[in-house]
Amino acid sequence: MDRIAADALAAAPELSLDFARVKAQLAKGYEKPFLILDTQIVREKCRRFFAAMPRVRPHFAVKSNPDQRVLQVLKEEGVGFEIASIAELDQLLALGVPPAEIFYSNPMKSRAYVEYAVAKGVEWFVIDSVEELQKVHRASPTAKTYLRIYTTNVGSDWPLSGKFGAYESEIRDIIAEAERLGADLAGVTFHVGSQCLNPENWKVGLETTRAVFDQMLAAGLKPRLVNIGGGYPVTHTKDIPTIAEIGAVVNAGLAAFGDDVQVIGEPGRYLVSDAGYFVCRVVGTATREGKRWVYFDAGMFGGIIETTEGLKYNILTDRSGPEIIWTVAGPTCDSLDICTRDQALPQDLVEDDFIYIKNAGAYTTAYASTFNGFPLPDVIIL
Ligand SMILES: *Cc1c(COP(=O)(O)O)cnc(C)c1O
Repeated sequence: MDRIAADALAAAPELSLDFARVKAQLAKGYEKPFLILDTQIVREKCRRFFAAMPRVRPHFAVKSNPDQRVLQVLKEEGVGFEIASIAELDQLLALGVPPAEIFYSNPMKSRAYVEYAVAKGVEWFVIDSVEELQKVHRASPTAKTYLRIYTTNVGSDWPLSGKFGAYESEIRDIIAEAERLGADLAGVTFHVGSQCLNPENWKVGLETTRAVFDQMLAAGLKPRLVNIGGGYPVTHTKDIPTIAEIGAVVNAGLAAFGDDVQVIGEPGRYLVSDAGYFVCRVVGTATREGKRWVYFDAGMFGGIIETTEGLKYNILTDRSGPEIIWTVAGPTCDSLDICTRDQALPQDLVEDDFIYIKNAGAYTTAYASTFNGFPLPDVIIL
């Protein structure tokens, strides 16, 4: 693709799964909640990512949608992978993904998992503490490690920092320990927070990365990987920066790194969300203390869990009555199973109505459990 065509692709409006195809699927019958996902859109998203950031190879975050058929499509599009566990590793090895293209980006790994991954040929491991560096180094003295640094998550709908990421003084200790061990601390990574609406976070992350690279070089290490993590947002109810706008910020920040530096990103949500609708059904409605409640058959244990931290989906129904505010809850007997307390939905919603959740291909089915005896959702691949 030439530069002009790539820019046009990256700047074009994003596509979502055509609602008519959701209806066509439903015409075949309904047994339980399902995610319906169009892999053509996944392919398109991969191409847009490559077009927006030519230096950045995407490594898909398997956790966002671990369906084997989705992983196969991503592999065909030339995408690498990022894993959190050895079950995810086994899925990729079964598809024939070379271990060198699988980055183990969970900062806290059990010793047994690290040893398994080393035995299978994984080369790259994240670390964000002195202890984790020692753990990986003991399992494999030749392992290539990359340091997860803290970076600001301001403006992200699903912040991640706080749990992971080294701060300034810890970074100094980790670099000193790598020097002492003779460990190959070979790069830096950060995660701006998931569904990040603020492109400045990548700018700040890359500036900090440059400074840490310089510290590593001063210590005699050979930093040569920049991993800009995930966080690229998708459309729900708020305006989002386009992938082209994020790309412009990232590409400018990468100018501070020479061509010998390998650059990867770890998109999860961006590559799969828009490809799918999650379809579920109203079990019943009720009025409690004057408020309207709707109970549907998926709930947070059936995969609609990101709403519990404030994510607002675009939700469609077949009703056209005036909208009122509903509390939306799942079918289980757990009081945690409330997806949101302020969802605008038509007033005339009743038992057996369908609920269509748009752009729900990421972080839905991946989270689902069979708690209380409710079935896992189906995944229908188009
Ligand atoms: C979850 C995760 C990602 C993917 O994040 P998205 O917001 O879905 O793009 C990437 N890297 C790491 C280390 C993660 O934990």
